[in-house]
Amino acid sequence: MIRDLHTKLVAGEVTAVGLAERYLQAIEKREPEIRAFLTVLGEEALHSAKLVDEQLKRGETIDLLAGIPGAIKDNICMTGVRTTAGSKILDNYIAPYDATVVKKLKAKGVVIVGKTNMDEFAMGSSTESSAYQKTRNPIDTERVPGGSSGGSAAAVAAGEAVWSLGSDTGGSIRQPAAFCGVVGLKPTYGRVSRSGLIAMASSLDQIGPFGMSVEDVAIVFSRIAGADPLDATTAESGNGKLFEEYLTGDIRGLRIGVPKEYFSEQLDSRVRKATLAALERFKSLGATVTEISLPHSTSALPVYYILMPSEVSSNLARFDGIKYGLSINDQKDSAEETSALLETYLDTRRHGFGREVKRRIMLGTYTLSAGYYDAYYKKAQKVRALIRQDFETAFQAVDVIFSPTTPEAAFRFGEKTDDPLRMYLSDIYTVTANLAGVPAISFPIGHIEEVGKQLPVGGQLMGKWFDEETLLRAADAFERRSADAS
Ligand code: GLN
Repeated sequence: MIRDLHTKLVAGEVTAVGLAERYLQAIEKREPEIRAFLTVLGEEALHSAKLVDEQLKRGETIDLLAGIPGAIKDNICMTGVRTTAGSKILDNYIAPYDATVVKKLKAKGVVIVGKTNMDEFAMGSSTESSAYQKTRNPIDTERVPGGSSGGSAAAVAAGEAVWSLGSDTGGSIRQPAAFCGVVGLKPTYGRVSRSGLIAMASSLDQIGPFGMSVEDVAIVFSRIAGADPLDATTAESGNGKLFEEYLTGDIRGLRIGVPKEYFSEQLDSRVRKATLAALERFKSLGATVTEISLPHSTSALPVYYILMPSEVSSNLARFDGIKYGLSINDQKDSAEETSALLETYLDTRRHGFGREVKRRIMLGTYTLSAGYYDAYYKKAQKVRALIRQDFETAFQAVDVIFSPTTPEAAFRFGEKTDDPLRMYLSDIYTVTANLAGVPAISFPIGHIEEVGKQLPVGGQLMGKWFDEETLLRAADAFERRSADAS
């Protein structure tokens, strides 16, 4: 899609302003129902589009992504733009700087149409924990779009943006991609700068792209990846080749491993069927499929739900009513300054944070406390190392690992809100990649019938550290074969 639009821009068949207007109109039309956006940047988008048109008029060459409308998850900072992370505590926060990914994309001339809705501080799997609104799944508006980057996935699926950025700490790009029938990539830990991403759990967080096709995702990914002096966990990698150049359609001889632990009883039988059919398609493309074992992946969910809240409790300590955003202080003129300060902290956090965020802060404070640190946090770190080792062993025998992205298709609003543990189970196949730091992509592999609706099913490929090119090549080859078949 991006390539086609680029060709039309360069040929003068469309203008960047025309394109921006078209997407802003789509937003106006669809938003009352979908609610994917927290902020729409109409003027800013038209302004960036105008600059691209001027470049074209001067006969300059433009980047493949220049003038192409996209959306950014609302936990990624953009200068001068309200950035809430889906929380009331940042309701009035205007970011004073661009996240590195935003800076890089702006330098390519992209057009940003808005900031997308998300679960509060990226904690959730449905957007139901957003302090502002629930985003609806464009495929079936009675159902959730997935989360936490549900706004970004829905915006692309609803045709309100060509591409978008999300963040993935335990599946927040891949799960909504699967639910909305789009493609989403969680890069290798350290491949994309986190500078300017409002932190959830820093050792797990990564920013990544959504798109309607694998190629679109590769194009955006090429433009955000790379080492950044502002994020010490990033590494220089790759050979300068753009990721879209790896999409040859040829995956003959690719060794695909299928972890037997991922086919447990939680898996919906129809999702299982779609997954097995996808494996047949991979075989027909010349790949080999073998069963493998990731023995510690059965501990991934408990390990994630110990380590993630621990990091959350530490990261979210900065939201205290003094440094950022909301500040509730009714006792400004109180003589007792210390107690006034404490009240400010407590009231701000009590009113500013939602239930899920508070739950995780409490859990994390507990697991990090002196008496329980060894029993929970330290133990979980040890199991995390074993989970990583599972991947090292597996990748001696296979090139990529394939599984369903989620155990079931998009669920209905309210279905899991009363039972956080059921909600957490949505992440059962995705958290492992974050714990191990490996890259993983979700892409549409089929549909299941649900009262007259065709709900998308996502397949997940996980790859070796810094080997996104193989994931993208395999998913793209699959997608081409699907296009041939339909
Ligand atoms: N759904 C998961 C959670 O609630 C994943 C969140 C994420 O990846 N940001 O923690």
